[in-house]
Amino acid sequence: MKIRTRKSALVTGGSGFIGSHLCTRLVDSDCDVLCLDNLYSGEKDNIAHLLDSPYFEFVRHDVTFPFYAEVDEIYNLACPASPIHYQRDPVQTTKTSVHGAINMLGLAKRTGAKILQASTSEVYGDPEIHPQTENYWGNVNPIGIRSCYDEGKRCAETLFMDYHRQHEVKTKIVRIFNTYGPRMHPNDGRVISNFMVQALQNKDITIYGDGSQTRSFCYVDDLVDALISMMATDDSVTGPINLGNPSEITIAEVAKMIVAITQSKSNISYVDIPLDDPKRRKPDIATAQKMLGWSPSLELENGLKMTAEYFKERI
Ligand code: NAD
Ligand code: UDP
Ligand code: UDP
Repeated sequence: MKIRTRKSALVTGGSGFIGSHLCTRLVDSDCDVLCLDNLYSGEKDNIAHLLDSPYFEFVRHDVTFPFYAEVDEIYNLACPASPIHYQRDPVQTTKTSVHGAINMLGLAKRTGAKILQASTSEVYGDPEIHPQTENYWGNVNPIGIRSCYDEGKRCAETLFMDYHRQHEVKTKIVRIFNTYGPRMHPNDGRVISNFMVQALQNKDITIYGDGSQTRSFCYVDDLVDALISMMATDDSVTGPINLGNPSEITIAEVAKMIVAITQSKSNISYVDIPLDDPKRRKPDIATAQKMLGWSPSLELENGLKMTAEYFKERI
C-alpha cells in the first residue's frame, strides 16, 4: 500500500492572480498541489513556472460541476474578482460562488479535508461603519450590478457555516480586502493594474468619480502568509477573519503615487463612477492579529515599486 507523506492541497482558482502565488508558496513548502481552474479570468502563464515540478498538477475544470480528488486541504479561490470580469457573465459568477462552494464543501465532507473560503470585503457592501469589523453585517444592494459577486460570496459564507454546523466540516472563512502585486492581469480593470498600465504608457489615468473614495491595499505576499496561517489554525477557528492592510488611501493619492513611481508623464482624467462603488473601505484586522499573529508588513509604496517592475516587463 502506498503511504502518502506529503500534505496535499487543492487550490481552486489556482491560475489566477492570488491563486498562482499561493500555489507557488505551497509547492515551495513541500506540499503536493492540485490547481483547478477553468481559465475564465486566470492564465496558464501564471503557473508556467510550476509545470515542471512533480508536486504540481493543473486541471482545467469548472467548480460549478462536481469534482473528485483526495486531498488534505482545499483553498477555494475560484471566482473572478475584478468588476469587469465578474459582470461579464453575472449568472456564471453567482453559480461559481454558490455551486462551486457546494461542490467543494461536498468534497471536504467526503474526504474530511479542511476547507478555506476566499471571501471578500464586498460582503460589507458600501459600509456604514468604518473600519469594518467581522461582526458588521454589511450594506449590500441585492439587485445591483455588483450583487452577483457580493451576494454570491455572502451565500458561500452561509454554506460554509451550515456545512460546519450540520456536517462538522472543518471550514474557514477569510474576508480578503483589496490585494495587489505581480501577475495581476493588465486588462483586469482593477485600479492598481489600470493605473500601472496607463502610467507606463503615458496615457491618461482614469479616476472614477472625484478620486476621494478610499481603499486599503495589501501586497499579495503578505496575503498568502495569512491564507496559509489561517489554514494551519485549530479546527475550532472558522472565522470569518478580515485579511488586508489597514493603511487607507484615496484613489486620487494612489494615482499620484503610481505616476511618481513610474516617472510617468500621464495626465489625470476624471470619468463617471460605476454604480454602487463603495465610498470607503478599511479592514479592522484585530482578529487576524490575535488569532493568526499576522499583520501585513509591506508598505504600499514598496509594493507598488515591485508591481511596477512586473508591469514594465509585461507590457
Ligand atoms: P483572479 O480573477 O485573478 O482569479 C480567480 C481565478 O478563478 C481565475 O484563475 C479564474 O479563471 C478562476 N475561476 C473563475 N471561475 C471559475 C470556475 N467556475 N471554475 C474554476 N475556476 C474559476 O482573481 P484573484 O484576485 O486572484 O482572486 C482570487 C480569489 O480571492 C477570488 O475568490 C476573489 O473573490 C478573492 N478576493 C480577491 C481580492 C483581490 O483584491 N484580489 C479581494 C477579495 C477577495
Ligand atoms: N461533490 C463533489 N466532490 C466530492 C463529493 C461531492 O463535487 O468529492 C459534490 C456532489 O456532487 C454534490 C455536492 O458536492 O452535488 C454536495 O455534496 P453533499 O454530499 O453535501 O450533498 P449531496 O451529494 O448529498 O447532495
Ligand atoms: N477605479 C478608478 N479607476 C480605474 C479603476 C478603478 O478610479 O481605472 C476606482 C474604483 O471606482 C474603485 C477603486 O478604484 O473606487 C477600486 O477599484 P477596484 O475595481 O480595483 O476594486 P473594488 O472597487 O472592487 O474595491
